[in-house]
Amino acid sequence: MFFVSCHIDLSLDDYIQSFDDYIQSLDNYIQSPDDYIQSFYNYIMKRKKIPLHTQILLALILGAAFGAFFNVDSNKLNFILQINGEEQSIVVGNWDSLVVSNKAENVSQVFYGNDQIQIVNYFKRIPASDLRAIEVVVHKGSKSQAIGNISTVEKIGTMATAIRPVGTLFIRLLSFIAIPLVIASLIVGAASIKDIKKLGRIGMKTFAIYMATTAIAITIGLTLANVIAPGNRVSDEVKNRLMGTFRQESKENIVKDMEIDITDFFVNIVPMNPIDAMGKGNMLQIVFFAVFFGVTLTFIRKKHSKPIIRFFRGVSETMIKMVDVIMKIAPYGVFALIAATIADFGFDILSTLIWYMFAVVLGLILQTSLVYSFLVKFFGKTNPIKFFKSMRNAQAIAFSTSSSAATLPVTMECVEQNIGVPKQISGFVLPLGATINMDGTALYQGVAAVFIAQVYGFDLGIAEQLTIVLTAVLASIGTAPVPGVGIIMLVMILQAIHVPPEGIALILGVDRVLDMLRTVTNVTGDAAVAVAVAEGER
Ligand code: ASP
Repeated sequence: MFFVSCHIDLSLDDYIQSFDDYIQSLDNYIQSPDDYIQSFYNYIMKRKKIPLHTQILLALILGAAFGAFFNVDSNKLNFILQINGEEQSIVVGNWDSLVVSNKAENVSQVFYGNDQIQIVNYFKRIPASDLRAIEVVVHKGSKSQAIGNISTVEKIGTMATAIRPVGTLFIRLLSFIAIPLVIASLIVGAASIKDIKKLGRIGMKTFAIYMATTAIAITIGLTLANVIAPGNRVSDEVKNRLMGTFRQESKENIVKDMEIDITDFFVNIVPMNPIDAMGKGNMLQIVFFAVFFGVTLTFIRKKHSKPIIRFFRGVSETMIKMVDVIMKIAPYGVFALIAATIADFGFDILSTLIWYMFAVVLGLILQTSLVYSFLVKFFGKTNPIKFFKSMRNAQAIAFSTSSSAATLPVTMECVEQNIGVPKQISGFVLPLGATINMDGTALYQGVAAVFIAQVYGFDLGIAEQLTIVLTAVLASIGTAPVPGVGIIMLVMILQAIHVPPEGIALILGVDRVLDMLRTVTNVTGDAAVAVAVAEGER
């Protein structure tokens, strides 16, 4: 009864009001169709979102396939001619022989079917003023064709080489991050360690482990080169062909007589002008300045040091955020870099240097999987599988850019975010490592030096091999973390053991691939040491 009376007491207006409220609440509850579509889309995207490291790995594989498919034809050449100030081009393919005569000097040179690189290099060497006197006669079957007024001779690019700028853009984006990131994180790192003794201890420990891993790497390289003896497996014919093809390029790499002066090396760590060091990207000088600056900040009044530290912390955070943004295009950059490299790569040469490559690659695998696993497990108290998984992105970027410096921002991100190394440690250990620790490069230099000596018939005794260890450690410290410098430092090692430095011509053809691989080892080595040092300071 009570119920009924209550019910009847409600007016019509009340009913309408409560119905409105009900509809309103339904409206809030039920989403519009658009919202439904949006949330369904989010759901699908979340489920289907491929992790970045898988995207990068896919980009590597697809890029390699794309590059192999759109391979640069090794039997075609593009002759660019200058006729009455106008540019014309003639494509020549599948020649039986190609005779280049220099009418001014009355000399001629004959090239054959597989000599594409030799021809391109030959023309690169001719000064522009002499090109007028050059005439080429192409013989194909019973036909021949004469070509004059040549200005350049080049390979014919494909779709895969055309996308190279995307990769270059990616490398440039990462490279410009490196120096501000290193400066900012080192200053903040050094200032926050405060205790100068602790900083000294970390510095000494880091340096000692870096040197030890490098020495182990060269020893592995030397042992493999002596056991496998790749140089004794090269025929005279292959030797002459390689020397002919890369003679010019090797001369360009032998810039001057390089001598190692240890005193000079240490003196040069102190920059005369830190801004100049930053402009030139001299990492060792930058590291010195930033650490000194950071430590000194702790000596001045807090009132003055605090805003500076806060400023550099802001710079470092911004740089790290920039890495995140840049990494969004990593799959495209990696794809383009790998595609262009593979497309442009002369695969024929691989088979001639297969034993040499085998020794280097085996050494890099041993160093990376055994030495670093040991370091990470016993000194870093970290599971090696977790370590390698955490490093996937940095390794893929190192492989595709061949530059530890360009990879540095990504290495820092992996080590800090995935492994949990404190910023104080990684900010100090990793930039230093990118500069002075190049285990992969040192290992490769060990194999290469013995290989070249073997081909030339030099017998390297224990004294020479020890010289290789010493010079390669120093070369690894002095090698700039950018593509292809390892081979230039190799010249220094060859000179130290009195092997003709022109010998680098033998290995230039495969240097690009090995550079990619050794950079992966370089970067992984830096990270492994960071993990070990961090554990020691916990
Ligand atoms: N590309 C190597 C690096 O950046 C150096 C080298 O071996 O050439 O680590």
